[in-house]
Amino acid sequence: MKLLDNIYVYLWDGQGNNSNTFLVAGEVPVLVDPGHVVNEMGEPCHERLLQSLAEDGFKPDDIGLIVNTHTHPDHCEANRMFQHGGKVKIAFHEEEERDMPAFFRAGDPGFQADFYLDEGDLKLGRKQQTTFRVFHTPGHSRGSICLYLPQSKALITGDLIFALSIGRTDIPGGDFAALTKSVRRMSELDVECLLPGHMDIVQGKQNVERNFRYIDQAFFG
Ligand SMILES: [Zn+2]
Ligand SMILES: [Zn+2]
Repeated sequence: MKLLDNIYVYLWDGQGNNSNTFLVAGEVPVLVDPGHVVNEMGEPCHERLLQSLAEDGFKPDDIGLIVNTHTHPDHCEANRMFQHGGKVKIAFHEEEERDMPAFFRAGDPGFQADFYLDEGDLKLGRKQQTTFRVFHTPGHSRGSICLYLPQSKALITGDLIFALSIGRTDIPGGDFAALTKSVRRMSELDVECLLPGHMDIVQGKQNVERNFRYIDQAFFG
């Protein structure tokens, strides 16, 4: 579903676990967190995503770059499903490599990073018309990142921040103090649209600010 400007959102609404997926259209279409192939309930997450993309006029081969906010399987298992043409590149933060084997059968996710992302601007397209501001925001995992789109004032948060909640820190690579610091850093950005890795999005500057205040009181107070 087209949300605003060049941003499309695919919120997971199944019974079992899967991440939300976002597509940022442009000369190099970027898919953020393709999600599971099939989840623990046997739901065909990847098939459903392809259907939703098709409804918006996107084919799997259109995708130029996959970015993972982090590499838990519910965000990146389907990376490999987009690779058949060999055109798509995959990028995430290098720190994710450390814990990734623990989350996959036989330690192998079935894909590799083509390059790593770190703090700074990622400019895509010959005229550089799409800019992602990448923030390294550890806490839920060591290499979690948030992606800020300055043109739209949208922030893709992965599993760092949710509507009225935060990501868990009781898994390998989790760190509550780091998460607290990362959330506070993101609260300083000018955000009008919060796009978390699970559950609902938060729209409107006031609602986003209210969400940050709630999290601060409920979890860090
Ligand atoms: Zn997740
Ligand atoms: Zn996660």
